[in-house]
Amino acid sequence: MLAYSGFAGRKVALLGGDRRQEYLGLRLAALGAEVSLAKRRPPRAAGLHHSTVVAEALTGASVMVCPMAPFSSVGRIWSEDPEDVLVLSASDFSLLASPALAFAGSFPPSLADEARRAGCDPIALNELDEVAILNSIPTAEGAVLMALERTTVTIHGSSCLVLGYGRTGQTMAATLRALGAHVTVVARRPESRARATTSGCRARGFDELPEAARGARFVFNTVPAMVLVGDVLSRLHPQAVVVDLASGQGGTDFAAAGTLGLAAVLAPGLPGRVAPETAAGYLAAIIERIAAEQPWPEAVTGRGVGFESAG
Ligand code: NAP
Repeated sequence: MLAYSGFAGRKVALLGGDRRQEYLGLRLAALGAEVSLAKRRPPRAAGLHHSTVVAEALTGASVMVCPMAPFSSVGRIWSEDPEDVLVLSASDFSLLASPALAFAGSFPPSLADEARRAGCDPIALNELDEVAILNSIPTAEGAVLMALERTTVTIHGSSCLVLGYGRTGQTMAATLRALGAHVTVVARRPESRARATTSGCRARGFDELPEAARGARFVFNTVPAMVLVGDVLSRLHPQAVVVDLASGQGGTDFAAAGTLGLAAVLAPGLPGRVAPETAAGYLAAIIERIAAEQPWPEAVTGRGVGFESAG
């Protein structure tokens, strides 16, 4: 496939985030984009323009990319650097070129409305199946890494539970099967259990979870609801490892797990932590595809730095 050339001469603003943003910047710069990265600390990679001011990075940009992690309630942009204080305010969208694309894991409704008012198309990456399915690969590999760091046995030959059989659960179960584990999937929908069965896993409903938990050595939870309660945890192998992948507070009673002496860990943001280059590659391909669908003019009239005038 030919690389999309529409980024040539266009400005792309990347705000906050983790190492994915730098790798994404390098990918888009290789396509000819002029990439500005807003962060407190300068990027490790050469070739990206660094700014500590969100407005400066956004001025004249045709594409802005915020992190996959959500904004805080006051529009603060997530950053791996806790000392980064980057805020996206409603008025910032008017600094972008027109038309422009704004990517983020998700947008608070007020910011999405403001983006549209400024002629900018807000795209919530977390709502794209494609993103979740691809991100399930580094997530599953990262979960295996987290588990192996906390055990003395191999996954091969071990009894593993996977809770939930959506986009992450399916890849998690397949990864464990490929490593030679005995995998039991616990899912609430019969069709999910049927699909798990076709993949060589045992399948159970949540009413059978306490029984399925008996003696399990590893548990990987993808259900964002409290499912690993004390009664379930108490039936696991005494040296069991629980890796909770679900968003927010996860689905594990961590206090109960601690009391039982189990190794239980909440593991958010694994794609950015374990495979930022690969995860950035997924995002770059998706952004490239969406950008290629835009009716952008051949030459861009820049309102700010880094643009060739259309005039
Ligand atoms: P998904 O495709 O929506 O799958 C979620 C699964 O959980 C489905 O099987 C769903 O069942 C089940 N489920 C949801 N609520 C449930 C409940 N109350 N009781 C029982 N089952 C329930 O989501 P996903 O993309 O796999 O992501 C799963 C979680 O992992 C999310 O919280 C996501 O944010 C998180 N995640 C974390 C990482 C990380 O790095 N830690 C990476 C990617 C995703 P149904 O199909 O019946 O609805």
